[in-house]
Amino acid sequence: MTIREHLQEIRIQMEESCRKAGRDPKEVTLIAVSKTKPVDMLQEAYQAGARQFGENKVQELLGKIPQMPQDVDWHLIGHLQTNKVKGVIGKTSLIHSVDSVKLAGEIEKESAKQGLATDILLEVNVAREESKFGFFLEDTEKALRTISLFPHVRVCGLMTIAPFVADAEENRPVFRKLYEFYVDMKSKNIDNVNMAVLSMGMTGDFRVAIEEGATMIRVGTGIFGLR
Ligand SMILES: *Cc1c(COP(=O)(O)O)cnc(C)c1O
Repeated sequence: MTIREHLQEIRIQMEESCRKAGRDPKEVTLIAVSKTKPVDMLQEAYQAGARQFGENKVQELLGKIPQMPQDVDWHLIGHLQTNKVKGVIGKTSLIHSVDSVKLAGEIEKESAKQGLATDILLEVNVAREESKFGFFLEDTEKALRTISLFPHVRVCGLMTIAPFVADAEENRPVFRKLYEFYVDMKSKNIDNVNMAVLSMGMTGDFRVAIEEGATMIRVGTGIFGLR
């Protein structure tokens, strides 16, 4: 199958999951995760209508940006080191992977220098996996409230990377837990926080994630093939 056919297939599955959950398909945005893939493959996805691309490494992201049309929205989805923040400010539509107050503080500092505000998500390690970055759920509200005080950072929601499992159903409780927390945080109407994005679900489990309330899904393999 071509990239165009893969994208078409994913979009159909997204619509099916939305229908199943009684949701409007317009509520869910597909991020094409293009990490490790050459620019000609991104261009093929662009030709097929993709405008949201996800990368996990700063250097790769910065290399690809000038080679793609200007109307692409770039999502940084991988762990970000504080010393790499400077390079990405002003380049991203959304940073999904803010996993410490210190990192948010660095984003604040660099955004202030450049006179702009940066949209971010807080990454939550819902399943408490040792191998993963992210706040534990019980620490997230406190971090959110601290970061909400940074004038050049805007928290737009939450992100999680669910465990790697054979059966996507196993991740349903993970997604449900984060959705419940997301709704709870939304209801608190914290100043300078716009809880509008719930980024969860990848190739193996995006259908379950949509059923459980995801507003952004991050699909790599399902579009571009194995890495
Ligand atoms: C690589 C990656 C994805 C995409 O994973 P696939 O299984 O290839 O769809 C999604 N989110 C993050 C954070 C990733 O690093």
